[in-house]
Amino acid sequence: MSEARAKSAPQKAMEKLGLVRDIDLALHLPLRYEDETRIIPIAALHDNEPAQVEGVVVDCQVELRSRRQLLVRLKDDSGTLLLRFLHFYPSQQKQMSAATRLRVRGEARIGFFGREMVHPVVKVVDEDTPLAQSLTPVYPASAQLPQAYLRKAVASGLARADLREILPPGTVPRGLPTLKEALTYLHHPPPSASLAALHEHQHPAWHRLKFEELLAQQLSQLQAQRERALLVAPALRARPGGLHERLLAALPFQLTGAQQRVAEEIAQDLARPQPTHRLLQGDVGSGKTVVAALAAAVAIDAGWQCALMAPTEILAEQHFRKLIGWLEPLGLKVAWITGSVKGKARQKMLDAAASGEAQLIVGTHAVIEDKVKFAKLGLAVIDEQHRFGVAQRLALRDKLKAGADAGRPQGGARPLGGQEPQATWGSTVPLEPHLLMMSATPIPRTLAMTYFADLDVSTIDELPPGRSPIVTKVFTESKRHDVVDKIRSAVADGAQVYWVCPLVEESEAVDLRNATETHAELSAALPGVSVGLLHGRMSPTDKAAVMAQFSGGAMSVLVATTVIEVGVDVPNASLMVIEHAERFGLAQLHQLRGRVGRGAKASVCVLIYSPPLSDTGKARLKAMAETTDGFEIARRDLDIRGPGEFMGARQSGAELLRFADLQEDAPLLVAARALAPRLLDEHPEAARRQVARWLGTKAEFLKA
Ligand code: ADP
Ligand code: MG
Repeated sequence: MSEARAKSAPQKAMEKLGLVRDIDLALHLPLRYEDETRIIPIAALHDNEPAQVEGVVVDCQVELRSRRQLLVRLKDDSGTLLLRFLHFYPSQQKQMSAATRLRVRGEARIGFFGREMVHPVVKVVDEDTPLAQSLTPVYPASAQLPQAYLRKAVASGLARADLREILPPGTVPRGLPTLKEALTYLHHPPPSASLAALHEHQHPAWHRLKFEELLAQQLSQLQAQRERALLVAPALRARPGGLHERLLAALPFQLTGAQQRVAEEIAQDLARPQPTHRLLQGDVGSGKTVVAALAAAVAIDAGWQCALMAPTEILAEQHFRKLIGWLEPLGLKVAWITGSVKGKARQKMLDAAASGEAQLIVGTHAVIEDKVKFAKLGLAVIDEQHRFGVAQRLALRDKLKAGADAGRPQGGARPLGGQEPQATWGSTVPLEPHLLMMSATPIPRTLAMTYFADLDVSTIDELPPGRSPIVTKVFTESKRHDVVDKIRSAVADGAQVYWVCPLVEESEAVDLRNATETHAELSAALPGVSVGLLHGRMSPTDKAAVMAQFSGGAMSVLVATTVIEVGVDVPNASLMVIEHAERFGLAQLHQLRGRVGRGAKASVCVLIYSPPLSDTGKARLKAMAETTDGFEIARRDLDIRGPGEFMGARQSGAELLRFADLQEDAPLLVAARALAPRLLDEHPEAARRQVARWLGTKAEFLKA
């Protein structure tokens, strides 16, 4: 086969689905099945149930009932069935001419005029045409990838794939079939198979697949964890009387118990000569920033640099302004490297990072990844890490590694200052920085453990004192006027208001128009009230000016696209309106709502939606109205979306768990988790093959 031959559309579609190797095809399992193994007498058809019948055409004609349609009457020994086609080709009419024997499959309707099927699947047969020997699989397909093509591809992939048992005897939970048996059964179940057990994924064949998948995942993570244990990082210890203590003394508040606990967990990590890989999670407003500041203080005090990164410029500014406000008075030099710092100023910042003169480097993830060289990076803090794609995180990690290794003393030279690192300098293992990731989208514990076996998790489960709870109300679009009235009275009482406009993914321009129109409408409806506008197309300077007006209290109402999503801290803002709330994800709604309720004032969040709502849309708004607890929100989000999408895996193209369900299949997970270390130690080659079979190139993603 020539390399240059163009790929057909279905081939490309298969590749997109990750169906490349034979094993990928063999592991592409049916969504459901059709039963073509039996024929039912026409008289025995049930209303609304799929079935297959066979008979001879009595007549076939085009009729004009309410519209032009093809009507075919089919007869068997027990009765007649009317086949109705609203769309048809002349060839079909010819194919189903009188006296032809047809095998048809579809859903029967039993109505006033007798039995009928609309648009059944039709096959011309002889009296002795054999029936299917097994249930017919229906695979997840698409317009570019027709079912028939996929069926053939999967059948041949299944036949060719090497499905020999990899796992040594006695390691698979009792009562499960071999992988080959399981796959053969699931692709081509015998006519006697229980469709219920198949559909609910509770058949032993399903259990075998789920176990295999969970095992591969546990193995690859355990492997990553062991690899990390061999890595070397500078050991960073807080000194008595050092920066860390001075920062604590300077804070205008006391740490909450939860903050103290996680700060201690992080300090212990940093003191070890292996790279930290920790996720710090806590609800919006729980006070993660100060915890990051304390970690930065430890790293800097030990003579190393610390990088702070956020996904966008506005977030970087909003998130870290406070942190810098705490650290700069203690004599630290900060390099601020975002897109808005340009020309000479930027070069100066870059030089300061490269020379080690700047101890703290703040910026967007993109800029740091692209432009910055570090003198000696000891700690990298990534805020809102869930907003980065997995591939992005991997790239970043490589970059940061180089930054830490640059700090390795060469030819016996001492580090720039502070403590002597504990690591084995003589070894050739490159140095890595400690990595602290922060997220306001809490990940339920079981999920975190399964997805990130290679990640330690610290959780802030307590809010600072003095916060007032937020009341959430849901209105339809038709109540918009009442909402505007509400704004008027809130502003009269001295409150400040956010109005968030919907995000139209495909078009930034439409987005902008919506926001501009709403701004005009609110300005007209609220005479004498200062209404501002903030959107993603504005220059950073303009954005900052508007934000300053709003946070200074000169502006009462701020119409914004989701650029305000995270990090804005205006305690006097106590009313938030989110328009077209049905278009936002649950986590995003929760983040947005977190912009209010930051002061002592009782806060309200109004969600406006336009009907009709989808089921998931309904579930999301209901969750928002019922709870303000970020962990509960995350749990509901997981229920609504499923783990793959929840983790953003779908977006990155790495579908992590296809078959197993972490809640439902907990016993299998326990078995897989127990087997993984044993397999890795006693049968390393089997472990390697298991991971390759299941994850292929995706294994690397699991380490991110
Ligand atoms: P998030 O976890 O969402 O990043 P922040 O770190 O921005 O939260 O903190 C939210 C607000 O709470 C900030 O204004 C911060 O200064 C304040 N804060 C943090 N910790 C405490 C505390 N222990 N007591 C009082 N206020 C605190
Ligand atoms: Mg934050």
